[in-house]
Amino acid sequence: MVEKKRRVRFAPSPTGPLHMGGVRTALYNYLYAKQAGGDFIIRIEDTDSQRFVPGAEEYIIEALNWCGIIPDEGVDTNGKVVETPNERHPHAPYRQSQRKPIYRAYAEKLIENGYAYYAFDSADELDAKRKEAEANKETFIYNYKTRQELKNSLTLPADEVKNLLETTTNWTIRFKNPENEIVKMDDLIRGHIEVNTNTIDDKVLWKRADELPTYHLANIVDDHLMEITEVIRGEEWLPSLPLHYMLYKAFGWSDTQPRFAHLSLLLKPDGKGKLSKRDGDRLGFPVFPLKWVNAEGEVSRGYREDGYYPQAFVNMLALLGWNPGTEQELFTIDELVNIFSLERVIKSGARFNVEKAKWFNQEYLRKQTDSQLAQQFIPILKEKGVDTDKYNELFVEQLCSLIKERAHFVADFWDICSYFFIAPVSYAENDVKKFCTPETMEIISKVKEFIGNMDIKEFATAGNTPKQECVSDIEVKLTGYIKENEWKMGAVMNTLRLFFVGQAKGLGIADIIYFIGKEEVLRRISAGENAVK
Ligand code: GLU
Repeated sequence: MVEKKRRVRFAPSPTGPLHMGGVRTALYNYLYAKQAGGDFIIRIEDTDSQRFVPGAEEYIIEALNWCGIIPDEGVDTNGKVVETPNERHPHAPYRQSQRKPIYRAYAEKLIENGYAYYAFDSADELDAKRKEAEANKETFIYNYKTRQELKNSLTLPADEVKNLLETTTNWTIRFKNPENEIVKMDDLIRGHIEVNTNTIDDKVLWKRADELPTYHLANIVDDHLMEITEVIRGEEWLPSLPLHYMLYKAFGWSDTQPRFAHLSLLLKPDGKGKLSKRDGDRLGFPVFPLKWVNAEGEVSRGYREDGYYPQAFVNMLALLGWNPGTEQELFTIDELVNIFSLERVIKSGARFNVEKAKWFNQEYLRKQTDSQLAQQFIPILKEKGVDTDKYNELFVEQLCSLIKERAHFVADFWDICSYFFIAPVSYAENDVKKFCTPETMEIISKVKEFIGNMDIKEFATAGNTPKQECVSDIEVKLTGYIKENEWKMGAVMNTLRLFFVGQAKGLGIADIIYFIGKEEVLRRISAGENAVK
């Protein structure tokens, strides 16, 4: 028998920005499909018009695109959701609101076969039932117990049903959940599950008011029509699984129903509960792939804007809930395609660790060439007001090479090395007190004179001499002079650093001299001397 082509889908509802947990769901679907040589489809589940948020769909697609999670079907190369069928996208439209006419007939078919019924109860009537139950310390559920006393096509005479269907518009079609049956289900991650139907209510499948299906109906019908073979989604959908199984059975599609895999939640850093935007705000990390500004103007930070490489973000997400079974942690998305497996997805929640996220980014930062880093750093320099025309690219490249080990993000570079571009305007008070003693200042004035007479090569005059050679030469000469005079190395170096940087910390003195050049060094020492007088 020829194996069916694997087809999976990511089916977001455009109700806001995509949480990183959602990106992980999309990623696992993508990896699964690509490994099997199958198709990865995006379907927009927008039948709940009340929760629709403008811009959310575009956000979701842009986010997946940034991550390199590119669909085979559903979204075109221009990033637009496909609306009319073509060879590559045979199941268009992929936006459920545009598939509206499809669903009613399926719901009616269930009624015909005794699996569903029309319900005419108004919201107020159902509310009253709920209150009544509450008063008796019970929970109202619309099911086999209560449906016989409610207003529906199972209880009302046929002519009244016909009349209500024709003259009113607030009725719904509900699934007729069987009494006391065991639904037997299998999940690729969680194994075998059984649920008694008595715990489930008669879910609304279709609403006359807006002529739209609910999530459950649209989801099952579309997964069937789109020939989905595996449904990989978040565990918040696990409670819906019995209904979905029953719907497949009611439609007579059990033989071709997809296999299911429910992914565990992403947990807060302390492991207690679902990772939320609030945790991110509180602990200072993003929970969304891209920045998002809501209708009230409230900004949620994004991994992209925080300076993460998409490859690092994807790598980190892949390992949040899955492991390769080895110690290896760094994988490209193509490597992940090769080794991903649902069997190695964990059942328990995956705890988010921001330090680990930063570590991933640092690893990817180190993989960049110095020239790539320079290209990424130059716009930041411009933003900071540095006249970048004054520095050639090699200068920035060599500087990036020197500082990259100290950074998690390119955005950290500025804090690490701003003094290479602008002289300090003030000096850390504590350091001044500690280091600028009259004795040291006397020494510094001699050191200044020595540096002035030093025959050295700096960046601007190095020509073909390798940087390391120039720096070592400066180092040997300067430390040789200090040693010769038996001065305290630490005191002299820290004072120089204070005058070069503004505080007694920073990169090696010889490196600083090489980059900023002798003339600027002398200027900074004089400025320092004047300031601490
Ligand atoms: N529209 C659902 C969501 O927003 C999809 C659930 C599913 O994949 O079945 O998560």
